[in-house]
Amino acid sequence: MERDTAFEKRSDKLGPRVAEAFRRRHFEAYYCATAQEALEKAVELIPKDDVVSWAGSETIREIGLVDYIRKNGYKRLDQEDGKDRAEFVEITRKATTCDTYLMSSNGASEDGQLVNIDRTGNRVAALCYGPRNVIVILGMNKVVKTAEDALARARGIAAPVNMARFSGRVFPEGCTPCAVTGTCADCTTEQYCICSQIVTTRHCCPTGRIKVILVGEKLGF
Ligand code: SF4
Repeated sequence: MERDTAFEKRSDKLGPRVAEAFRRRHFEAYYCATAQEALEKAVELIPKDDVVSWAGSETIREIGLVDYIRKNGYKRLDQEDGKDRAEFVEITRKATTCDTYLMSSNGASEDGQLVNIDRTGNRVAALCYGPRNVIVILGMNKVVKTAEDALARARGIAAPVNMARFSGRVFPEGCTPCAVTGTCADCTTEQYCICSQIVTTRHCCPTGRIKVILVGEKLGF
């Protein structure tokens, strides 16, 4: 398939350089031009006997990875298997010590750092420690110049957009300032603030535990 949009051209030039920057920080990292290539690379990185779990990420769904895991006989800890709130929470808790954890990131810098924000912290907990293997799928639309820019992106764009997804669906309508105005007011709204934990991952230890797959398509937000 011909890749001729400005976004794709920028991604194909920058993506391999950002992957190299992640490798200098001891992540395993790859650049895949398309979502299909990213799906194939992710599958290659998941041992077939692993217990797999994932975060509530649009990106891993968009590339078809969640469907692939569900349809191909992997052992999994799947929040959607929880029959009630208690089971949902128990699956989420166990997921922090699964074998392979799948997620995206709210932002990343060109010099190879990840920035993530989280409400209860389950996603960043698994990123920091627990699963032996963490696979981060990241559209090049989330890659910005510096870690400071990535933090600004995570708080200024990703968080309000995420809240727009949740407000009126899993959370009450208008439950935080950003759910009302579309912009962050640095709130501490009890129960509903989705910005409790803000984590920058500037280095991967043990070496290669976190695998970053950069994708030359717009994925997530
Ligand atoms: S208003 Fe609150 S929940 Fe919304 S982005 Fe800002 S800190 Fe996060």
